[in-house]
Amino acid sequence: MRDGILSFECRDGYCDNPLLMMQLDAHASGHHWLQVPGPSPVPDRILRAISLPTIDHRGPEFGQLGLSVLSGIKNVFRTQQPVIIYCASGTGAWEAALSNTLSPGDRVLMYETGHFATLWSQLAIRLGLSVELLGWQGADPELPGAPSWRRGVHAELIEQRLRRDDAYTIKAVCVVHNETSTGTLSEVAAVRRALDEVRHPALLMVDTISGLACADYRHDDWGVDVTISGSQKGLMMPPGLSFNVLSRRALQAAKSARLPRSYWSWEEMLDANRTGYWPYTPNTNLLYGLSEALEMLRSEGLEKVFARHQRWGACVRAAVQAWGLPIVCAEPERYSPALTGVLTPAEVDADALRRLIYDRFDLSLGTGLGKLKGRSFRIGHLGASNDLTVLATLVACEMGLKEAGVRLKSSGVQIGMHYLAQHPAPEPILKSNTQ
Ligand code: PLP
Repeated sequence: MRDGILSFECRDGYCDNPLLMMQLDAHASGHHWLQVPGPSPVPDRILRAISLPTIDHRGPEFGQLGLSVLSGIKNVFRTQQPVIIYCASGTGAWEAALSNTLSPGDRVLMYETGHFATLWSQLAIRLGLSVELLGWQGADPELPGAPSWRRGVHAELIEQRLRRDDAYTIKAVCVVHNETSTGTLSEVAAVRRALDEVRHPALLMVDTISGLACADYRHDDWGVDVTISGSQKGLMMPPGLSFNVLSRRALQAAKSARLPRSYWSWEEMLDANRTGYWPYTPNTNLLYGLSEALEMLRSEGLEKVFARHQRWGACVRAAVQAWGLPIVCAEPERYSPALTGVLTPAEVDADALRRLIYDRFDLSLGTGLGKLKGRSFRIGHLGASNDLTVLATLVACEMGLKEAGVRLKSSGVQIGMHYLAQHPAPEPILKSNTQ
C-alpha cells in the first residue's frame, strides 16, 4: 500500500500479489461508506440473491426468471411497453437507443445539463449523428463557463428550437432526467409538452440512469419513446445491467433506422425475450439480484421510495446551506432527490477534500466531473440508505471540510439532525428492505 493506493507489479500476465482480492476488501474496521451517486450500496438481500448458483440460461428455470424480471421491471418504469435488459453499463444502453432508431447523419437535439448529457452527445457524434447541443445561456457568477450545468432542462428552449424546424430535420430530442454530475432533476413531462405544442414528430429519448427508483418516472404517461436506465443507482444493484424501454413509435423507427447495430439490436432481443430468454448469454446472477430488487421496491411501494429520497435530499441540502456552501443546482425546484452536488470555494481542491475524507473516514464521495472537476463533490443519498447513513455522511463531510480549512458558517450536521427530527419518516423502513 503506497499513499493508500494498492501497488503491485504485473509481469507476463502474473501479479506479484496473490492476495489482491483480500487487500481490495481490507478497509478500516467497520464497513466502507459508499456515498457516491452510484454505484449505490447493495443490500445484503440482493447480494445473497446474486450468490445463488448460476443456472443453464437455455433451461426451463431460466425462462421463468427471465419472464418474471422482464415483466416486473415494467412497473418501475411505469410502462406497458417492452423493456430490453442489456448485459452492459448505462453507456451501452445510450448507444442502443440511438443505433436502433436513427440513420447516419440524422440531426439530434440534445440538451446540455452536465457531464452525462455531454458524454451522451459525444457518443452520438461518434455514431455519425449530427448533434445540436442546446443549453441555458444566462449569467452564472459561480460557474461562468457552464451556466447550463447548474440548471435543469428548460423545455421552452426546446420548443423554440423545434418551432423553427419546419422541415422536421430533427429526428430525436434527448434529455437527461436526473443529471448525476450536478444533482439536477428535469421535468420530462414539460419536454413532452414542448414537442406536442409544435406538433413535432421527433422521438423523445430520456436518460433516467440515476433517476429511476429515486424520483417519479412515467415512461407511458410522459410519452417517452426510448427510456435509458442502469442497475447501479436507485435499483440498488451492482453495475452491469442497463435498460431500453421502447414505444410503438420507437419500434416503428427501428424498422427503417440504418445505423449499424448487432449486439444492441432490439429485434433479436424482443424475439428471444418473448419466452424469457436472451439471444446470447445473459448475466444470470445479476438477474437474480434484479428479481430481488424488484420485490423490495414492490413491497415498499414506489411512492414511499420517492418520499424517502426527497426527505434525505432535503436534509442534505439543509446541511449544505448551513455550511454556507453553494449547491451546484441553482434551481431549487429542480433539486435532485438522489444526490446533492456541492461547490467548494475556488481555493479548495474538491478532490483533495474527497481524498482526505476517504482516508480519514473510509467514506467515498462523488468526484466533480468535466467542467466541475476540482470545484465540486457529490453526496449520494440514493438507494439502500437510512437516516444514520445520511447523517454519518454529513459528519464525515463536516469534519473533512474543517480539516481542509474551509470556513463553515454553521454546523450542517446539527441542522441535518434537526431536519430529520422535525420531519420524521411516516413509517419505519422495513429492515428486510435495507438488508
Ligand atoms: N447517464 C447518467 C445520468 C449517469 O449517471 C451515468 C453514470 O453514472 C451514465 C449515463 C453512464 O452510465 P455507465 O457509467 O453505467 O455506463
